[in-house]
Amino acid sequence: MDKERIRHDNSAKGVQKALDTLMLDKPELENMVNCFGPLLVAKAAFKETCSLPEELEDQSLHLNTNRFAQGEPLLTDIGLIDFHEDFKRAAQKLLPPMETAFIGIKGDIQKIAQGFADDSINPRECVQAFVGGTPLVLEKTAASTGTTPDIFNFIIGQLAKPFMEMQSASLAHLIAGQQWLHGYCPICGSYAAIAGLIGEGGKRWLQCATCGHEWRFDRHTCPKCNDSDHTQHDYFFDKNSPAKAKERVDECHACKSYLLTTDLRERTDPVNMEVAALGMVSLDMRAQEKGYMPLASTLWNSLT
Ligand SMILES: [Zn+2]
Ligand SMILES: [Zn+2]
Repeated sequence: MDKERIRHDNSAKGVQKALDTLMLDKPELENMVNCFGPLLVAKAAFKETCSLPEELEDQSLHLNTNRFAQGEPLLTDIGLIDFHEDFKRAAQKLLPPMETAFIGIKGDIQKIAQGFADDSINPRECVQAFVGGTPLVLEKTAASTGTTPDIFNFIIGQLAKPFMEMQSASLAHLIAGQQWLHGYCPICGSYAAIAGLIGEGGKRWLQCATCGHEWRFDRHTCPKCNDSDHTQHDYFFDKNSPAKAKERVDECHACKSYLLTTDLRERTDPVNMEVAALGMVSLDMRAQEKGYMPLASTLWNSLT
């Protein structure tokens, strides 16, 4: 077993098990688990039903080492896959648990679900607009379903997430062994939702909020502003939590950002990092009350 890497369980079964354990450890989070848990399980279950698109098996895909060395994430070069063929199916599986998770926009989600059901939303057009970054098409589709562009983009982004994760996992081998000293994801360029400490001395691995990729990053440097002056960095944890300092918030005074961090060095079973982040939601709230901003939004940390 590699003690220098985090061991994950990202299967639907693993997510459910992690949620059940979280409920036992922190019963006060029952509402949060009931709200967001079904969406996390549905996303994992959906990925298990997808096969990898042929284009990802294309042997001609390769890393542009020059651009990568200059700090350009892999997808800037390769681009996102066109996943429209499975997109309607993703909508069918993920929109119902999204209604539970995002109760404030339930009506909009139902309109979008209706749009997929009666084919007034064209998955190909939608995905191409998302992948190609053409917001006008998305705005037009949003208007035709009766939702706002912001809500529509948010939902499409959530539906795209499993595809981002699958693509990221299948492309990670292209950058294996390459040095990456940046605080943003080497594959998609997003920031991390959570960090895990593992191995001797507690090496820090950042987990991308968008595609789930994880990469090593110096523990004493801020991933957001790259400041490594230790007087600018601090952390806090909940003294009443059974996890104590194993679950903590690292904060940077220089840029006022924070990052949830879980110390996994004594952990023997695999972890699901999304559920781990959900379990630390009270730390999210405290950090935001103190005036700090998360590096990346998660399903729940922008609600506080
Ligand atoms: Zn990423
Ligand atoms: Zn900073």
